[in-house]
Amino acid sequence: MSVVGFDVGFMNCYVAVARAGGIETVANEYSDRCTPACVSFGPRNRSIGAAAKSQIVTNSKNTVQGFKRFHGRAFSDPFVQSLKNSLVYDIAQMPSGTTGIKVMYMEEEKVFSIEQVTAMLLTKLKETAENALKKPVADCVVSVPCYYTDAERRSVIDAAQIAGLNCLRLMNETTAVALAYGIYKQDLPAPEEKARNVVFVDLGHSGYQTSVCAFNKGKLKVLATACDPLLGGKDFDEVLVNHFCEEFGKKYKLDVKSKPRALVRLYQECEKLKKLMSANSSDLPLNIECFMNDIDVSGHMNRGHFEEMCVEILARVEPPLHSLLEQAKLKKEDVYAVEIIGGASRIPAVKERISKFFGKELSTTLNADEAVARGLIVRCFLRTTQHLSPKC
Ligand code: ATP
Ligand code: MG
Repeated sequence: MSVVGFDVGFMNCYVAVARAGGIETVANEYSDRCTPACVSFGPRNRSIGAAAKSQIVTNSKNTVQGFKRFHGRAFSDPFVQSLKNSLVYDIAQMPSGTTGIKVMYMEEEKVFSIEQVTAMLLTKLKETAENALKKPVADCVVSVPCYYTDAERRSVIDAAQIAGLNCLRLMNETTAVALAYGIYKQDLPAPEEKARNVVFVDLGHSGYQTSVCAFNKGKLKVLATACDPLLGGKDFDEVLVNHFCEEFGKKYKLDVKSKPRALVRLYQECEKLKKLMSANSSDLPLNIECFMNDIDVSGHMNRGHFEEMCVEILARVEPPLHSLLEQAKLKKEDVYAVEIIGGASRIPAVKERISKFFGKELSTTLNADEAVARGLIVRCFLRTTQHLSPKC
């Protein structure tokens, strides 16, 4: 039976399989290799992935996203409590004390554990893999952020089990990325030569993970990892959302935050605007028809102004990089290359900070979105397993 790799992100998931002697990231039924980490509960059915995401606005209270952060956390955990009011859907305490999600499903109020919700998502990803491979799938490797605690990891394993999967192992996202790099690089130094130190920087939607690894042919050692578990693309979205909430409050007398549906729409539009600003430095419009109380709203933003508003967030890019070099006892000159991955690493100001810190051009050898999923599969093939350091 084949082993498949699941990169379950906060926002996006990818499935990698081994096929025809290579590693492939496979597409879902929408011919999209990215499946949104989203589950929507309806009166007659539930939908998962892209179909669920399309219901974020129309069925906002019963459409669940961003649940990765609740794994292994008690409902009373201050972190969970601090998020309670900013969520569009309801969360509740499970009998075991962990966090659950309260939704209307099949016209009944239901509380699902986080493990159950993630299992639904994994079931979808499993189907995607089965459709691609045209055979049943059970064995898998699932990625987790390197800062996950034991409780968070156990919770992910439980979710895989509920989905009928046999999770052979969990792999740190940082390790998966390093493996993905190692397999494609043909020019690594021989084992007896000086190792090549490569820094990996992954800025996703919810987490910031950096690692430095030493490479020789057939050998990989993770020298250090440093993270900011609370920094990601979502923080940049939030800056835009808060800005427009204030602007629309003044301009149209609208209290956007009082209407979950309007707020969800604003989040979607702001995320789009953020992406556009990565490619475009001119003034860009934000228009939403029938936004609230039948009012059409409009605003605009440009990259320069956006970067000014994000100064505090951008200041959080460097500290993990300092810590990384300090832990690994390396100087900036000892770093051969800096590879960036993760969707939010496309933000020009983020790239600029990382590049300035190392005094180097950044490398984009790896596919920024799919590297983690691909790395999960590499582990199943390589005999380098015995060379992996225990930190993996
Ligand atoms: P995590 O790794 O934190 O669990 P994830 O893996 O789901 O999350 P990614 O898919 O790596 O996250 O990245 C998603 C983030 O990247 C979102 O915030 C998205 O808006 C952002 N993003 C994607 N493309 C761009 C772009 N061109 N410019 C700016 N941000 C972008
Ligand atoms: Mg990710």
